[in-house]
Amino acid sequence: MFKRNTANPKIRKEVLKRDKSKCKTCGLFYDLRLICAKLNMDSEVTDEDKSEEYALFCGLCYAIHKIKQVPSTQLFLCISKIPQNEIIIKYVEYYKKYKKIPGVLKIDKKAKYLPLSTPEYAYLLERGVDIPEFKKYKIFFSDKFDFSFLDKKKRFSKSTYSDTESDEEIIEEEEDDYMESTIISYVDDISELPHYELSVNELEVFSIFKS
Ligand SMILES: [Zn+2]
Repeated sequence: MFKRNTANPKIRKEVLKRDKSKCKTCGLFYDLRLICAKLNMDSEVTDEDKSEEYALFCGLCYAIHKIKQVPSTQLFLCISKIPQNEIIIKYVEYYKKYKKIPGVLKIDKKAKYLPLSTPEYAYLLERGVDIPEFKKYKIFFSDKFDFSFLDKKKRFSKSTYSDTESDEEIIEEEEDDYMESTIISYVDDISELPHYELSVNELEVFSIFKS
């Protein structure tokens, strides 16, 4: 799965307190199961690390943070005017309410399918490609993505983080469970989405994948 760049327990504890158990990207509060990861995702985790180098991410935002390493069956790109953090919030709210992963059109009725995979997109970003069209590119989640970190069954009914020894043990244990179970759910067939018409600019940028 992911090559993790997560904090040691001491830093994790500091960051949880500092950020009040809220995901840096979507801003949602999670009582457990936040991932405390290095902001610079390519730098190694060392013993000299300071808590300032870390932030908290929910499972969805972490996947976007680590887009390059997430299997392309789990994420896909669409054209949407909805900001990425709002898309995340909609996924979380829908999943919590209906216990299934929403299809794209449940998140954005006007979304259009973009024929570019997330590894391809990550590759372009890594090479410093930046075209105005990228602002419309949003990441959506397929039914292969594991939303189980949102399930209540293994969570504890704590509303705030406290720093007793036992809590720390629980949190570590919770994090290990992350992404292991699978959920059967319904997702709209992507092929039914209207397709987005690529601009000349995009056709040119994407042509490197066609040789
Ligand atoms: Zn988040």
